[in-house]
Amino acid sequence: MHIPSEHVDSDSGRLLGGHCEHCQLSAYPAPPRCPSCLGPLAARPLAAEGKLYSYAMIHAGPRGRRLPYTVGYVDLPDGTRLFAHVAADDDTHLRTDMPVRLSLHPDGSGYRAIWTPSWPSAPNKEVADA
Ligand SMILES: [Zn+2]
Repeated sequence: MHIPSEHVDSDSGRLLGGHCEHCQLSAYPAPPRCPSCLGPLAARPLAAEGKLYSYAMIHAGPRGRRLPYTVGYVDLPDGTRLFAHVAADDDTHLRTDMPVRLSLHPDGSGYRAIWTPSWPSAPNKEVADA
């Protein structure tokens, strides 16, 4: 996922979202006004770690695109939900709610954002629940 350079905080190297001081909502990318109360949003670095809310492996795409690739939604601790590319050679080790960490890689005029599972292999849910 391409991230414009102005969406990255130069001090922390984290994504820059919008935060509403009135209702505490955070959003990325930051819209012009708070989508909940229409108040002003202040720029604020977002957490670089979150939890994988949902994901899907994509097996079709334009010519030249490396397939398959994985996309998903990542929930940050402040409630922000991001659509994201997830690093995974296959989706068999991914699990919802697993911790993921953001890495930003320079890419032309911005960055390529990839969320990587924080542990190499998720525990088997059936075993973990037993
Ligand atoms: Zn608000």
